[in-house]
Amino acid sequence: MPEPIYFDNSATTPLDPQVVNAMLPFLFQTFGNPSSLHWAGRQARQAVTQARQQVADLLGASPDEIIFTASGTEADNMALVGIAEAYGWRDCHFITSAIEHPAILATCRYLEQHGIEVTYLPVNRNGLVEPEALKQALRPNTRLVSVMAANNVIGTLQPLGELSRLAHAHGTLFHTDAVQAVGKIPLDLRSLPIDLLSLSAHKLHGPKGVGALVVRQGVPLKPLLHGGGQERGLRSATENVAGIVGLGQAAQIAQNGMAAEAVRLVGLRDHLLEGITAAVPNVYLIGHRYHRLPGHLCLGLAGQEGEAIKLLLALDEAGIALSTGSACSASHTTEPSYILLALGCDPIRARGSLRLTLGRFNTEAEVTRFLDVFPQVVAGLRPMTTRFPVQELERNSIVS
Ligand code: PLP
Repeated sequence: MPEPIYFDNSATTPLDPQVVNAMLPFLFQTFGNPSSLHWAGRQARQAVTQARQQVADLLGASPDEIIFTASGTEADNMALVGIAEAYGWRDCHFITSAIEHPAILATCRYLEQHGIEVTYLPVNRNGLVEPEALKQALRPNTRLVSVMAANNVIGTLQPLGELSRLAHAHGTLFHTDAVQAVGKIPLDLRSLPIDLLSLSAHKLHGPKGVGALVVRQGVPLKPLLHGGGQERGLRSATENVAGIVGLGQAAQIAQNGMAAEAVRLVGLRDHLLEGITAAVPNVYLIGHRYHRLPGHLCLGLAGQEGEAIKLLLALDEAGIALSTGSACSASHTTEPSYILLALGCDPIRARGSLRLTLGRFNTEAEVTRFLDVFPQVVAGLRPMTTRFPVQELERNSIVS
């Protein structure tokens, strides 16, 4: 059996060994609580301070603007709920896009239940929010615009500069869920008027269960968690020192290698795309051809939309891990993806897409092997369908 291939780096990334090495001392001998005044506490405090600097450097922020959290989801909740809270939940209108991650969309639904009005901006067929649509949606009481930097399913990058400048010109705060973008594309807060930015360590070869919200100076944000007053009083809880150290190290590695790594990933991604479209009829790219994450491909299979889950399972049997772009429901059918529907795909097309996402440890040899296996698996799809018991299709495949 050949080595397995992992092409699902948008779901999560493998830890970088350098990150593991940086974390290990904080899982054993350097165990102190950063709030303690003695030597053990000081060691831990120092490590958290260094990690804060590393994350700040990656984003062109100041270290005191980095608030560590337990996930990207928490950072997103903190941004949206914290601003609603700061405005007293009254006379508040928020704007977001129709293709945000559930960490934003479900939080918006919660805000709506508590009296906040929310506008969901449409996107064009490439998944881009049109600045003109934002302009039209802004109201005198719009307090926050939240638009993601890069979409998790289709990989499209939003025009963050234009959108954030429009919000600021209107006197409105701007948040971006940059969980999929941080460490992969340059994001410099010295030139982007972004007030709040969410990130998550496990998407950039760091550990799971740690993230951050960047809160620029002067942004009126109220905390979700109340307690000992850690993280400038914005996020009480004893710090996850090892996780934070891992995030800091992951940020530094990403910053040092970003330009070269992006070129390498674009090369691998385009090789994959050309190879697949040459060998498999009726495959088409979903999302913008160029304004997309370097290692991200989302593909539709015209005429075989219903087969995406079967294809995923057949590839899994061959040791190849990737995602579909849709969520699988308990009724054994794939639901159309709300993201693909928002792009204007009809419900049939919106059911069948595959997401291949490359990361730091993927190689040209893996791409070559994939291009060998993939056309055979697609060709063998129909006879294979009976090999998967119905329970297999129940597996939760919410795309993260
Ligand atoms: N936002 C986006 C765009 C994501 O892709 C994800 C995770 O998949 C999240 C938020 C949630 O991050 P976390 O897994 O750290 O909670």
